Amino acid sequence: MALNRRDFLKLSAAGVGGALCTGNAQAVQREPKKLPPDAVGMLYDSTLCIGCKACMSACKAANGMPPEQTGETDLMWDTPLELSGKTINVIKVYRDETVPASAQETLVKDQEQNGYAFMKRHCLHCVDPSCVSACPVSAMTKDPLTGIVEHHANRCIGCRYCVYSCPFGVPKYEYNEAFGQIQKCQFCAHLQAKGELPACCDVCPTGATLFGKVRDLQAEAERRLGKQPGETYVFPRGKLGGDRPPHEARIPEYRKEIYGDKELGGTQILYMAGVPFDKLGLPTNVPNYGYPTLSEGIQHMLYKWMIAPAVLLGGLAYVVRRNTKQQHEAEGQSGSDTSSEGEES
Ligand code: SF4
Ligand code: SF4
Ligand code: SF4
Repeated sequence: MALNRRDFLKLSAAGVGGALCTGNAQAVQREPKKLPPDAVGMLYDSTLCIGCKACMSACKAANGMPPEQTGETDLMWDTPLELSGKTINVIKVYRDETVPASAQETLVKDQEQNGYAFMKRHCLHCVDPSCVSACPVSAMTKDPLTGIVEHHANRCIGCRYCVYSCPFGVPKYEYNEAFGQIQKCQFCAHLQAKGELPACCDVCPTGATLFGKVRDLQAEAERRLGKQPGETYVFPRGKLGGDRPPHEARIPEYRKEIYGDKELGGTQILYMAGVPFDKLGLPTNVPNYGYPTLSEGIQHMLYKWMIAPAVLLGGLAYVVRRNTKQQHEAEGQSGSDTSSEGEES
């Protein structure tokens, strides 16, 4: 089959575009990152949380964060409602909004309808973090042993790619500061380095916020899910396997799933709750792989394809050379035919 220059260009474009546009994500995805075997994490059990906010105060004290007044009154010392440049750990509340304000006292805890529930929001220390992948100067890093995702202010150029890339809306920029920085939970890495617990896990009175190795926390969550609602259970506090006295309580009506087991490639902060996780502000309509597996896969493919122009040029040179040769041969043939005819005449 004769291949002309137009055919060659069409084929090349179709090959490049086709691989990107077939919708076959696996064709371009890189291998997902794996949870380090000794990765540390936190199990937040929303049903154990009493909304005391001791974890918020401890977090601010441990990380030197300033108070923040966001309500209608500034009479309260610290009243953040959301994550911000001043608040890296916040307790939020879900309420069934169909219940009128006059009947709020009838709401039942950890119930979706006619109910309410608490939620602790901060960095989830993703197994395959988008923020680390998006940062152009390695100011976001993931520790290969603990898996803690840390922000390094001394390297940060303030581009805020991490802010836009995080699927959980976690990193916040200090817009009100002259030399603003990114702020997010560092899982109290500075305290862990001294052998101490993250501040929020340390002060939580109920064990709603529990520290441990991620693998052990997953097993603990599975144990709770394996019990019948109403059964008595001994809930650990502080650190899983630590020496702090546990407390006994009844197993609640859990959602039969652990958030963070697989969402977006998994997270080192795990959640259990009695109401659906999307009601608690966690994205649920998400794939089981981290977005960087796709974005980095495409990047690597494009880098690989930077050799494509060279291949393209080589191909074109070949086509031109071959076509020219064929043309010369045809002309030579026709010339000899003509002279034969002349000789005959
Ligand atoms: S939750 Fe956001 S900021 Fe935290 S590790 Fe994941 S992508 Fe990064
Ligand atoms: S681990 Fe430390 S920084 Fe993170 S929320 Fe808890 S107290 Fe705050
Ligand atoms: S300290 Fe524990 S119980 Fe109190 S708000 Fe924080 S997570 Fe909930």
